[in-house]
Amino acid sequence: MNACTMQNAATVKYPLAHRASPLAAHRVVIEGVDFHEFVSIAGPCAIETPEVILQAAHELSRLGIRALRGGCWKPRTSPYDFQGHGADAVKWAINACRESGVRIFVTEVVSVEADQAIDRALDELGAHNDLTIVRQVGTRNAQNFELLKHLGTRPNPVLLKRGMGNTLEEFVCAAEYLLAGGNQDVALCLRGHRLDDAQDMRFALDYEDIPQLQAMTWLPIIYDPSHSTGLKQAVIPIAREAYARGANGLLVDVHPDPTQALCDAKQALLPGEFEALHHHCLSAAA
Ligand code: PEP
Ligand code: MN
Repeated sequence: MNACTMQNAATVKYPLAHRASPLAAHRVVIEGVDFHEFVSIAGPCAIETPEVILQAAHELSRLGIRALRGGCWKPRTSPYDFQGHGADAVKWAINACRESGVRIFVTEVVSVEADQAIDRALDELGAHNDLTIVRQVGTRNAQNFELLKHLGTRPNPVLLKRGMGNTLEEFVCAAEYLLAGGNQDVALCLRGHRLDDAQDMRFALDYEDIPQLQAMTWLPIIYDPSHSTGLKQAVIPIAREAYARGANGLLVDVHPDPTQALCDAKQALLPGEFEALHHHCLSAAA
């Protein structure tokens, strides 16, 4: 890095997340999966039952997917909507990973307490060596700075979603909170925003922001075609667009039986429907 780049890095609001940061050589590698290469994170939006997450884990691991997702705590617009099974769901997911051989589980932590409940579940089941639980920070908590400060000091990888009303600079600054605490295993996730008219999609799609975000930061960039579009028919074409623009990975709602999904049923793919997309991206990354 030359002195000029260093000076630029020092004046930006996010010196550690910046492309020219001394940390830029760091690779986010989780359970042997390099998040700068290609990663598919797939699974149900919410974990409704132990059976559903076990079936998802088995079917997805058979397809070669190495990172399972599933919501345990669900931040819902209405308080009357399904809120998730919390720590019980974490335990069901740990068991599903153990039985299927999946070693990465991604789940949203809505609070410091949820993060701590995950550690307690891993303790109780003696599962710390069996898998890594990536802490997802959802769009509604993307600027919950106290949560970010907490996760920054913890040893667990974080998948940070873009706040739906956040600019790219605000997004990278949120990641800076994690890096500033010492946590370097951070991946970014674009998931649509509300800075423009959303037209007929659930959110305005932001895959066109990928090259600009890549120019700002060294952190791997995952695209979520499920929450951005809200429509299963749009998931595959938009995922391909995102991948073509340089996304390092995809986060996709995949449910073994979307008719039973208590959350985001309209955007969930069946495992078989996800398979072709996963292999398309994987072979293009190879
Ligand atoms: C999710 O991934 O399940 C989710 C709720 O996403 P977001 O925070 O992007 O809405
Ligand atoms: Mn969802």
